[in-house]
Amino acid sequence: MKAEVVSIGSELSSGVRLDTNGQWLAAQLAQIGVDVIYHSTVADDLPANLDVFRHAQSRADLVLVTGGLGPTKDDLTREVLAEVAGVPLEFHEPSLQWIESIFKMFNRPMPERNRVQAMFPVGSEVITNPNGTAPGIWLMAGNACFVCLPGVPREMKPMFTDWVVPRLRQEFSLGEVIVHRTIRCFGAGESQIEEMLGDLTKRGRQPEVGITASEATISLRVTAKGANPEQAQQLIEPDARFIYEKLGELIFGEDDVELHHAVAKALIKKNVTISTAESCTGGMLGQMLTDTPGISQVYLGGYVTYSNDLKINLLGVPADILSRHGAVSEECAAAMAKNCRERTGSDLAVSITGIAGPDGGTPEKPVGLVYVGLASSSEVKVRNFKWGNDRKSTRVRAAKMALNLVRLQLLRQDC
Ligand code: ATP
Ligand code: MG
Repeated sequence: MKAEVVSIGSELSSGVRLDTNGQWLAAQLAQIGVDVIYHSTVADDLPANLDVFRHAQSRADLVLVTGGLGPTKDDLTREVLAEVAGVPLEFHEPSLQWIESIFKMFNRPMPERNRVQAMFPVGSEVITNPNGTAPGIWLMAGNACFVCLPGVPREMKPMFTDWVVPRLRQEFSLGEVIVHRTIRCFGAGESQIEEMLGDLTKRGRQPEVGITASEATISLRVTAKGANPEQAQQLIEPDARFIYEKLGELIFGEDDVELHHAVAKALIKKNVTISTAESCTGGMLGQMLTDTPGISQVYLGGYVTYSNDLKINLLGVPADILSRHGAVSEECAAAMAKNCRERTGSDLAVSITGIAGPDGGTPEKPVGLVYVGLASSSEVKVRNFKWGNDRKSTRVRAAKMALNLVRLQLLRQDC
């Protein structure tokens, strides 16, 4: 079955707002085995809507529409659908009663215009909307099944999940469900990870394994189709096991887990206290750590020492290190971490110092060069890296590198 998603609204076509409904609907449809092969976005304009609806009718079996069901003049979905289906609009009394009851609940008179929301193309089924006035419409028009839902995401989503999905299953005896499992890694590049996995990411393979990178976090998404979610999960299992075997310590979590959440949770679980000393990230590392509830149990706080003076006066970095090696150096990162740990009394301390750019680079110390340090009871480790020269990227990656040092330290239990 081929599906098309149509998103209606001038705020979408003009770029004022992003069409997140289209994205959400396509993802939901994929999970129940429906392939979306077209997306259309159209302004609140009658000829343009007619055009898009007719196109969709001719090339898709299922057309999912969001928006344009409101009571105002620019809401054209009912009218356009009736025209395309070649049927008139008729009045649906129960819908009017529902709309009136909502106005009563808010103690407001119902504007005459809202009556239009109780009009449906002849032959439609009404999709109830528990969270708003606009009911949805289900209508076969020619060979295409049109499903029209409101644009307000809070109304549209439950209508889709609770009404449309069961109805689609009933109507179309949908084939297989699609299930994803995402395994997330940090510490090696995309191509290096791909190489470690051999043929796993080859196109056309079942289950399909996709690899994506976002600021040095690598995600492996395993997608399987099955008669039901449990069966699809089972198909994923051997690949997931293989990925864990091959990538081992590179893996920090699954699905929506971010590196900073994984590290924060590990610190809390092991009850290992930590503090931070940041320069070029300006507190980003502290912010990331404090994103996780319960972190106060282990995160003591941090120094943001951007200038050399503060590195000396607040953190006690020897002036001599700064004059001889500079602030962006292995020696400085080590002193920042070591002194931070001593001053706060934490089990671990991490430091970051680097050249975020775009200015300030030299041939020996180019823009993007970062040192991260980690002090524990037994030693002070420093790593350096240089990825690119984008300021934002360098800072985010620096914070992630520091988090990853902590993660690996915790895995070895050596704090
Ligand atoms: P309805 O059919 O519920 O009346 P509408 O198109 O008349 O929809 P609007 O008043 O245009 O409703 O939009 C209502 C809200 O929903 C706005 O905040 C709008 O930005 C949001 N919205 C509408 N369509 C989308 C979409 N495709 N993606 C994300 N948000 C959307
Ligand atoms: Mg609209």
